[in-house]
Amino acid sequence: MGTWENIDVIAKKVRNKKLSPLELVNKAINNAKQAKEFNAIISLQEDVAMQKAKKIDEKIQNKKDIGRLAGVPFIVKDNFMTFGSETTAASNILKGYHAPYQSTAVERLESEGAILIGKANLDAFACGSSTENSDFGVVKNPHNPEYVAGGSSGGSAAVVALDVVPFSLGTDTGGSIRLPASFCGVVGYKPTYGLVSRFGVIALASSLDVVGPITSSVEDTQLILDVIAGKDGKDSTAVDREKSYITDEESLKGKRVGVIKQFMEHGLDGEVRNLVENKINKITQSGAVVEEVSLPILDEALACYYIIMPAELSSNLARYDGIRYGHSSSSAKSINETYIKTRNEGFSSELKRRIMLGTFVLSSGYYDAYYKKAQLVRSKLIADFEKTLSKYDVLIGPTASTTAFKIGKNINNPLQMYLMDIITVAANLAGVPAISIPIGMSVNMPVGMQIISKQKEDKKLLGIAREMEKL
Ligand code: GLN
Repeated sequence: MGTWENIDVIAKKVRNKKLSPLELVNKAINNAKQAKEFNAIISLQEDVAMQKAKKIDEKIQNKKDIGRLAGVPFIVKDNFMTFGSETTAASNILKGYHAPYQSTAVERLESEGAILIGKANLDAFACGSSTENSDFGVVKNPHNPEYVAGGSSGGSAAVVALDVVPFSLGTDTGGSIRLPASFCGVVGYKPTYGLVSRFGVIALASSLDVVGPITSSVEDTQLILDVIAGKDGKDSTAVDREKSYITDEESLKGKRVGVIKQFMEHGLDGEVRNLVENKINKITQSGAVVEEVSLPILDEALACYYIIMPAELSSNLARYDGIRYGHSSSSAKSINETYIKTRNEGFSSELKRRIMLGTFVLSSGYYDAYYKKAQLVRSKLIADFEKTLSKYDVLIGPTASTTAFKIGKNINNPLQMYLMDIITVAANLAGVPAISIPIGMSVNMPVGMQIISKQKEDKKLLGIAREMEKL
């Protein structure tokens, strides 16, 4: 499998007729077929992609504008609604579902000439940290197929790590872009909440869900964000954007960097700690002012997340009733039986667990004790992050406390699986941007470092991340 040049370089070569879009799509499709054993892709859309490539080719011949991402093949997580193949969210309940409209993020990429070649595997409805909750089987880690690729955007991270395509899109509700990026050794970025439209993305927890790119470099991430960011009439939570997200590296001289104390605890693996500390030393040597910073509220973040997320998920999943979308039980004899049997057959045990948790914390007897309390904790977390981030340019720490684990290791222990998110969920609860960049290998498995900044400071965050990536 050949590696890809920077996205910007590929698109320029297409515009200058040095590369043909057909050649690029062919290469990506062949790569995808060669990488089949990793189970990272749910559906490929070879014919549709080739037709799009031909259209771009014609435009080039006719000297028409072909866009900033002309001919660049990409893959999106299968919870993005797209034309050209089914949209499953990796769940039995949506198998065979064809979306009637496309997500805004995909539309924006395609309007700049990028070509969607397929849909990536994930934990069903993006609920999980390893893709072992996918109804399409687990994604294998590109560095060792006996290990998980991370989740829930495991397929999206694996296809970039395997060089199938130059970039992919994922979604991040509690870490689902950053965790698999860290486990697969690629760049995974969760923008500020609302910076990228969620229109046409199958909802997990709507107050936490964010769309973001997975790439091989921060520079590529800047370009993709620049194309997909900004207001959208179809998503009222989408916020204003900066004029451009394309910047050079931001010098670290004099930058104030806080190392989050709580992130360096939480059962941090020794080798992961060494690699993060090495990186911190280099950041200090580059002239940044590095200090340890304590955010005690972070100890409550995971508990808070595992109340708010299932509460929102349980209500978002209520629409899958066998009447409107996807699977409908064939043995049901009444409308009530249709609801019960469809949901029983279509939802995995992990989704049922979360639906029960969610409806429990929202029930009248427990609302105050759980849901309301979690919202209060969330408000405090947002305030504490804001206060701390007014003193620092960025906060840093590991992305995950360990490297990828063996397939099957945590599958019978949901609590252990939930603990995988202990470092990533806080950025979602606070709505702040966070990026995971690769910082080295521990026993042949990649390690990622997380960089966090203030809400809507995505541009600065990416500039700093570019510099830190170089060290
Ligand atoms: N692993 C987390 C969960 O299981 C995060 C999921 C996500 O970000 N989509 O909920």
